[in-house]
Parts: sequence; structure tokens; C-alpha cells
Amino acid sequence: MMKEILVATHNQHKKEEIQQILGDGFKVTSLTDYGLLDEIIEDGATFHENALIKAEYCFRKTGKPSLGDDSGLVVETLDGRPGIISARYAGNHDFGKNIAKVLEEMKGEENRKAYFVTVMCLVDENGEHYFEGRVYGNLTENRRGEKGFGYDPIFIPDGFEITFAEMSAEEKNKISHRKYALEKFLKFLG
Ligand code: IMP
Repeated sequence: MMKEILVATHNQHKKEEIQQILGDGFKVTSLTDYGLLDEIIEDGATFHENALIKAEYCFRKTGKPSLGDDSGLVVETLDGRPGIISARYAGNHDFGKNIAKVLEEMKGEENRKAYFVTVMCLVDENGEHYFEGRVYGNLTENRRGEKGFGYDPIFIPDGFEITFAEMSAEEKNKISHRKYALEKFLKFLG
């Protein structure tokens, strides 16, 4: 029988990306498919806690194996900020303001090392399992590129000379933090 995975998102794009990676053996569903419209309060202190909060909510509501995820940008010299508050660092989901704040804080800073991280948590009848993916790189001094979202215009992954926002989605998805976390998840499913 085809195994169902409920992904704790309303984002159709995220659902489809996961469906594509998991392939035909799995049926990926989302919060929207179950009419679960409550706002999930992500008040965890770590990426792991937030991923667990989302997955647990779905499992509690439906009893289906549920996947929660939490991602963000971690900057070495900013003591790990923006970290778990990446989405609302300067303005809620205002990517322009969030980028401007990071660039301002990084002005004149030589160490520009940063990484993106995704933590996924699967909750099912056997408990919880975590899958983490990271992509390391450096921050630019100015925005570059128009593609992608979030902090993509200021992040150059190691081994490249262009930002995530200058790459095609296909190119980014091959080396992204989400891709690596999903690969571990897929391996776990066997
Ligand atoms: P979420 O947990 O996937 O919703 O990600 C939280 C926030 O982290 C987003 O709103 C972005 O600001 C940032 N973020 C996560 N993944 C990426 C990425 O691939 N590129 C740029 N920003 C990202």
C-alpha cells in the first residue's frame, strides 16, 4: 500500500517538492488537504523544537506519519542570528528588510561565513526522527540576483561564485539544505 506522509505546510510548492523527491511510492498530503487551518505556534528555542512542534500537531490531529520542518540562515559572527527568527528578523516575511538588517550588521565584517540549515522531524507511531541538511557559504556585501526567496540574494554557497538568487531553481535545489535533509529522510524510509 502507498504510504502517506503529511507535511506540516500550507505551501503547495513545498508539498510538490517533497512529493517529487519521494517519488510515486508515497502520497504526500498537506495541512490544506485536511482542512487544518489553526496557526501552529512555533515557539521552540531551536530548529529541532520547531520542526517537532509542527510534526506533532499534525500527528495528533490525524494519526498519519507527519513531517515538520524548520529552516533558517545562521551567521557565524552574528552569534548564529538570524537563526530561528530568519523569517521575521526585521519584518514579518519582508525579505528586503531582513536582508538589509543582516547586511547592516555585517558592514565591514571580514568573516562572512554563514550556512542555511533545514531540520525535518518525522513523527509517527514509533516516535520522532530528525533529518538535518546544511549548505555552507559566505555572505556578499550587496544583494545579487533576483531569483529564489529569503536571503538567497546575499548567499554564495561554497564552490560557487554566484549567489543562490543568481542560480536557476534546478541548480539551487541540487545543493540546498532542504535537498540534503530530504535525502536523509528518503534514506530512512528505505
Ligand atoms: P522556513 O522554516 O522554511 O519557513 O524558513 C524560514 C526562513 O528562513 C524563510 O522565511 C527565509 O527567510 C529563510 N530561508 C529558509 N530557507 C531559505 C532558502 O533556501 N533561501 C533563502 N532563505 C531561506
